[in-house]
Amino acid sequence: MSRVSVLQLRVLLLNGSTWEPLAVITVQRAVNLLIAGKAIAVEMTGKYLNTVRRKFEVPSVIALKSYVNVPRRKSHWSRKGIMVRDGYTCIYCGAKVGSKVRGRVLTKHDFTIDHIIPRSKGGKDTWSNTACACARCNHRKGNRLHNVAGMRLLWEPKTPRTSYLVIAMGSGPEIWKRYVEI
Ligand SMILES: [Zn+2]
Repeated sequence: MSRVSVLQLRVLLLNGSTWEPLAVITVQRAVNLLIAGKAIAVEMTGKYLNTVRRKFEVPSVIALKSYVNVPRRKSHWSRKGIMVRDGYTCIYCGAKVGSKVRGRVLTKHDFTIDHIIPRSKGGKDTWSNTACACARCNHRKGNRLHNVAGMRLLWEPKTPRTSYLVIAMGSGPEIWKRYVEI
């Protein structure tokens, strides 16, 4: 891996003591925090960065040594955010991308945003009122409440604990997932 591509990697920065995700930062900034003794490496990428003076193993996750008090950013609701939070899994039947339903493999296009309290009944676009649903369940529920439609929620939709920035990292490395509680 060339120096340039190593520098294009991103590093998940955790807060001190709580290990809550704070931000996604550049390799350069992560290395600077490690050199300055302000952070410790938590997970490594197995890739190396050669500088004039030394060779660094590039971290994938680092944590600050001390806790910084950052006001929790409000997670902005978005369709994409809901899909990432729910991992493209139907809240009613549990079908997900890749599930085979009636001989057909489901893709992202088979999923939609379901309003738990339908919009026609005043339901809003909020984290707790929306969830991912397959088109079939969404259609079956229609403009009714799920209990009226004889359906049940497999989990309770929640506002993510971490900022949207981190949730959007659904595309980030697998190793980050254990640090991203949503
Ligand atoms: Zn479903």
